Amino acid sequence: MESISVLMPRPTFPYLEEQLDGRFKLFRLWDNRTEIQFNNDSAIANSIRAVVVNSVDGADADLIGKYPNLEIVSCYGVGVDKIDTRKCADKGIRVTNTPDVLTDEAADLAIGLILALLRRLCVCDQYVRSGKWKRGNFNLTTKFSGKTVGILGLGRIGKAVAKRAEAFDCTICYHSRTVKPESKYRYHPSVVELASNCDILVVARSLTKETEHIINGEVMNALGPKGVLINVGRGKHVDEAELVCALLEGRLGGAALDVFQDEPNVPQPLFGLQNVVLTPHIGSATVETRTAMADIVIANLEAYFLGKPLLTPFL
Ligand code: NAP
Repeated sequence: MESISVLMPRPTFPYLEEQLDGRFKLFRLWDNRTEIQFNNDSAIANSIRAVVVNSVDGADADLIGKYPNLEIVSCYGVGVDKIDTRKCADKGIRVTNTPDVLTDEAADLAIGLILALLRRLCVCDQYVRSGKWKRGNFNLTTKFSGKTVGILGLGRIGKAVAKRAEAFDCTICYHSRTVKPESKYRYHPSVVELASNCDILVVARSLTKETEHIINGEVMNALGPKGVLINVGRGKHVDEAELVCALLEGRLGGAALDVFQDEPNVPQPLFGLQNVVLTPHIGSATVETRTAMADIVIANLEAYFLGKPLLTPFL
């Protein structure tokens, strides 16, 4: 496999790079020398058979079009919304992602965000560090156990969030692309109805064109001043300008967000709000999970080039 040319457009995780380097002929596009090689010698671009991308940067039509002999795009992440899968399908390019191994991690984070938001953990931490505790006790916060959790997208991560929330004696309801007859959770036919019937709305849905800004003003109003929004799906699900207004006007009780519309840019007005928790897209970002994800990227590429079935094909 050492002669097979694989391209990484952006750095990801050193372990993944090392593993790719040890098995394939790896080109790192962010390395100046590689860029010069690519610019001066079209044979190199022509030699690329696989591209490994992360799910935030993805692979757009422009990138895919630069490599005429590209056969497979391997995504180091489960969300493929930044990969032009239509173009890949048209050109017969296979696409893999890394489902399952990151489900627990993303669901754990969702629960962590709920607790951080309702119990004001980040604000409490600052309260102690700044010495304010010496001048008085912290204000009372909000209980999580027993609340109603609405899940938008009852897929792998959505189900894992629901399972965890059940351990907190929460009632679970959901809205998904499809009804799950096997699920004991109550289905709501629209996001607005889901938001009207829960205290905590967790977004765990894949992003598609149809789901951009699915969390709009109407949904925020339906959640209401005591309701909170948790987003571990994708930033573009949420109308951020509307979210800022709803929070500033007290129409929405709070928000905990791991993903944003234009990462790493986060709307400045959110920084001043105590009923907001912000994390830098860390849903799968632990050593254990990122290592497992890297192993799947490698295993898919090896399977592909050995002519075996892909482990986790998206396309
Ligand atoms: P999944 O099992 O495929 O579930 C996707 C959910 O989205 C399902 O409930 C599905 O509906 C719904 N959906 C709606 N429209 C869809 C469409 N056109 N295509 C596919 N699904 C659609 O995926 P997952 O493993 O739970 O991951 C869900 C998303 O979480 C990922 O796509 C990614 O964006 C995000 N994520 C974020 C982080 C992070 O770092 N914050 C980490 C991992 C994943 P049905 O139930 O009706 O099928």
